[in-house]
Amino acid sequence: MTTTLLDTLRQIVGADHVLTEGDLTAYEQDWRKRARGKALAVVRPASTPEVAAVVKACAAAGCSIVPQGGNTGLSVGSTPDDSGTQVVLSLTRMNAVRAMDRDNLTMTVEAGCILQSLQETANKEGLLFPLSLAAEGSCTIGGNLSTNAGGTQVVRYGNARELCLGLEVVTPQGEVWDGLSGLRKDNTGYDLRDLFIGSEGTLGIITAATMKLFPQPAARLTAWAAVPSMAAAVRLLGLAHQHLGAGLTGFEVMGQFALSLVTRHMPQLRVPFAGLKGAPPYYVLLENSDSESEQHARERFEALLELAFEDGCMLDAVVAESLSQAQELWHIRESIPLAQAEEGLNIKHDISIAASRIPAFVEHADALLAREIPGVRLVNFGHLGDGNLHYNVQAPEGGDAGEFLRTQEARVNQLVYDAVAQFGGSFSAEHGVGQLKADKLAQYKSPVALSMMRAIKQALDPQGLMNPGCVLQK
Ligand code: FAD
Repeated sequence: MTTTLLDTLRQIVGADHVLTEGDLTAYEQDWRKRARGKALAVVRPASTPEVAAVVKACAAAGCSIVPQGGNTGLSVGSTPDDSGTQVVLSLTRMNAVRAMDRDNLTMTVEAGCILQSLQETANKEGLLFPLSLAAEGSCTIGGNLSTNAGGTQVVRYGNARELCLGLEVVTPQGEVWDGLSGLRKDNTGYDLRDLFIGSEGTLGIITAATMKLFPQPAARLTAWAAVPSMAAAVRLLGLAHQHLGAGLTGFEVMGQFALSLVTRHMPQLRVPFAGLKGAPPYYVLLENSDSESEQHARERFEALLELAFEDGCMLDAVVAESLSQAQELWHIRESIPLAQAEEGLNIKHDISIAASRIPAFVEHADALLAREIPGVRLVNFGHLGDGNLHYNVQAPEGGDAGEFLRTQEARVNQLVYDAVAQFGGSFSAEHGVGQLKADKLAQYKSPVALSMMRAIKQALDPQGLMNPGCVLQK
């Protein structure tokens, strides 16, 4: 049966694109190296009809499929289990821009397009595709939609879901649903597009999408502010919304300890105000995009910062003088995950809580973890504008991080996720559920929500062949 299936797959996509031997680490291991599986084969179709034929062949053989884009996901959703029986279906050869509609402000693109290349394509047309995240050089738009990715511009433009107008999907039966629509209004029944977005490859395979584009701003300015507390950071967010309106395109928070790791492991990066008296506990990175001019942007930004200073929610701030200075500030922010990895193994939590409740949550969770797990170090940073924190936990200084993870990870997760639930938040803000957090979904979603999710899965994928064990437990 296996040989017959592999032969059929070779006939569909060509023998060169059915990989069974050699080093398949890039497809079989997740980005964080949390899981390593073994695939029956990695199959790389080049078109929607090829994807449909591959899915039909796998369905006929009862073989399950793990869709994969750039394999940068952080929840172990795009790699096979270790049974050696699953097909990894890689979309990376499907990377064409099918259409650009300047008047409708949309582009229709194939699922394997790299996010950064789509930003560049839009840019060449004098337009903006605003989805932006640190993995943009490797992640694909299909993966972005399947995880409903967020990133740094959500506060203004929304996450991947809000940027998508239509999808083309290959169903688990190998049928093609052409839902590629540039329509901004279409109230004709259930929203199938929104069902597939964020479903992490468990309901079908996204092969193409129609995405929204925006006018390029005339100017984009970045500021770095030191703030006296998380409550002050949230207060600054409120003032920024009020005074910049739609101009507020980025609002990131970074804890002092998170930045000290950047200073320790990347000493060439200069963190502004790191030496300020009393070591401010939090820093904020703000971005203001303006449709008029740089001067207009600067005036509005400076007025906001002056107000924040008088209000007491800001201790000091610097506005980047040039694009390269702005890039340096963003680079510091984006270096935190790498600095954290350099420091050693750690436990990540990608959580969201209503911005208004974040200060109370942080106070509660910081004290709880310090009390229950002495010596623990908290690396707290994230997209505060979206109520999204990366509330990560580093092993005690000088300790054995591997041992810490083995013995404490479950306990740390329980403490953090229980606290998140207590504050009405979500245990996964933007990284999805994957295999890694499928048990958390079972634990923290309501029974009603879970039973609707299972009913949807059963209706669309009755054979259970699409990414089994991802999102919903097997
Ligand atoms: P993959 O990792 O290949 O797959 C992710 C999931 O989508 C899997 O379940 C897979 O089965 C499914 N899938 C992939 N393609 C398809 C398809 N065409 N059809 C159906 N299912 C599919 N995420 C954020 O949201 N915000 C961030 O700021 C952010 N920053 C990151 C920074 C770094 C350094 C890294 C490594 C990751 C970051 N991520 C972030 C996570 C990751 O980049 C996103 O989840 C991204 O959207 C995944 O895209 P991908 O193409 O790599 O998908």
